[in-house]
Amino acid sequence: MKQVDKSAYSFRLYAHKGRWASYYHQLDEVLAFDPRSVLDVGVGDKVFASYIKNNTDIAYTSIDIADDLKPDIVGSVESLPFPDGSFDIVCAFEVLEHLPFEKLPKALAEIARVAKNGAVITLPHFGPAFRFMLKLPFIPELKCAFKIPFPRQHAWKGQHYWEIGKKGYSPATIRKAIKQHFIIRREFVPFENQYHHFFTLEPMTEGWKPADRRDPRGLVRKAVFGSVRLLFPRDHSGGIILMYHSIGYNGAPFTVKPDEFERQMRFLKEEGFRFLKFSELVERLDRGRSLDHTVCVTFDDGYEDNYTNAFPILQRYGIPRSYFISTDSMGKTREISGGFKFNMMDERMIADLLKTGLVECLPHGHMHLSLGKIDLEEARRDIEASQGSLAAITGKKSEYFAYPYGNHSPELLELMTALGFKAAVGVEEGVVTARSDRLFLPRMEVSARTSFSKFVCKTTRARAYLRLKRLLKRWL
Ligand SMILES: [Zn+2]
Repeated sequence: MKQVDKSAYSFRLYAHKGRWASYYHQLDEVLAFDPRSVLDVGVGDKVFASYIKNNTDIAYTSIDIADDLKPDIVGSVESLPFPDGSFDIVCAFEVLEHLPFEKLPKALAEIARVAKNGAVITLPHFGPAFRFMLKLPFIPELKCAFKIPFPRQHAWKGQHYWEIGKKGYSPATIRKAIKQHFIIRREFVPFENQYHHFFTLEPMTEGWKPADRRDPRGLVRKAVFGSVRLLFPRDHSGGIILMYHSIGYNGAPFTVKPDEFERQMRFLKEEGFRFLKFSELVERLDRGRSLDHTVCVTFDDGYEDNYTNAFPILQRYGIPRSYFISTDSMGKTREISGGFKFNMMDERMIADLLKTGLVECLPHGHMHLSLGKIDLEEARRDIEASQGSLAAITGKKSEYFAYPYGNHSPELLELMTALGFKAAVGVEEGVVTARSDRLFLPRMEVSARTSFSKFVCKTTRARAYLRLKRLLKRWL
């Protein structure tokens, strides 16, 4: 049913200052996904549409129930005329409140069905807002805003059937409805427009269940990490590359137990990280895009337990990841210091991983040598051998590499450039930024020694954590 007349989209009245702030955040949230295609449910005044069409190469499609607004397709969000996963991102800005609340689950289900990578939804949020901002020279800007709960009965005025914050439509109620179909990656009310509530959503992967908030241990955990958070302000800047080796119960110093690994993956999901394969991370760097809120999960060497233990967990959470394979040991056993023996993945297992589409396998040297210490010609042969044997499985020559033991030398880095490598990782701890050396990118090691609180510090308070660690090292 058509509700909004074309004449309603007037400057000042509809496109008021606050709404322009919302346009900024709409674009900011959508562009952060780096999508190739976008479906816009409800055309509005087409400000968002015109920016996307004129300034990006994203394929834009709009759908609206009102034909006089000239959407690309006339239709309803209750039954979107598109096959599953048709668009990278689906947006619905100030649209869903135009449907009776009972229809919200169906609309969300439809959006989730056609959205491949995520959705950005905004909804009106009623209630008086408290806003405070102070900027004095030489001190950081102070900015805070919160809405005062004021659950008034909603009155139908011909457009909105409901609004967040009205009686019976608390933020918790809306969140619960959304969580039936999506993982909420980010949620906020823009400082400049206290009437719009943003939800940035990720599709739910099979088997994903939000953590049970009533779990008493969860409360303790929350209290503990709440205090960690106070000590280290939230920091998601820069990209995090995690380095794993074995996932199992073998007791080796670098091994992470599967339940601990699952907890870490769940945390990253809930924290709202965007998972990237290593090549995708480098591509983003090359294009000058921000790496904030991104994480890349990498596994070194190619242990068989990556296939038997980690694989089901990663598939359940739908996590893209990169494996650095030491090619000579494929299908063999590898012994590390301390007498720990490991079975290594064979070519069939690697091919299985690749079939998921979430995986890339990259070279990590053929014989797992300290490449910075050996003869340069020998290093070249070893690097090319691992590149070659992997290409035989993956069908393409990799331009990415991980140095065994993180060992490297200035000459080796030169050789890497000469061999056409785009990027490589070591084992130095740090956060990846635009300034990082592509041929020696830092990683965060996760091992048996990494407690969960340390993991949280490494991934979300990385900067503060590293700073503290550096300081402590100086003192101790
Ligand atoms: Zn290694």
